[in-house]
Amino acid sequence: MTQAIFMVGARGAGKTTIGKALALALKYRFIDTDLFMQQTLQSSVAEIVAREGWDGFRLRESIALQTVTAAKTVVATGGGAVLSHENRAFMRNHGIVIYLRASADVLAERLTEDPEDAQRPSLTGKPIVEEMLDVLASREALYQDVAHHVLDATQPPEDVVEQILQILADEKVK
Ligand code: ADP
Ligand code: MG
Repeated sequence: MTQAIFMVGARGAGKTTIGKALALALKYRFIDTDLFMQQTLQSSVAEIVAREGWDGFRLRESIALQTVTAAKTVVATGGGAVLSHENRAFMRNHGIVIYLRASADVLAERLTEDPEDAQRPSLTGKPIVEEMLDVLASREALYQDVAHHVLDATQPPEDVVEQILQILADEKVK
């Protein structure tokens, strides 16, 4: 088994932030599937969606997920990667899946403050808090389903990283 570490959660949950810090602490590689797609396809998420629709994007995302998965790698997945049963099974079978959980309010506030994330196309065209509520309502069960561990992502990043390191240390003992 590959034993990668997968970060899942909604946009703004901290998959990139926490994933990078975790990889640094573990001396693992860090890969963001969104960034990997942007680099390999020479297109932004918005451009891929505009050209191929969300279905096309999701297909490419599944391929990216499988391509980047390797030992000693922290993989930050796209917020919607869990929509695919195939992706969920793949992640559970190839490593440890961490769900970074935060409320719609917190997510919306973070996204409003982050200009890079603001560029990502809206899924619904609704205001951001409502969109995050919708997204969580439809995905919470999937995040819970795929996760080996659920963490409170509203804590300071260093605390979240510390908890993940503890979980990994505990798992190695068993
Ligand atoms: P994701 O990759 O899940 O979309 P990011 O890591 O890009 O999320 O984080 C989104 C925004 O929220 C960034 O501005 C980041 O600095 C901030 N952020 C992430 N995690 C935390 C945290 N635990 N506490 C406070 N702010 C955070
Ligand atoms: Mg990210």
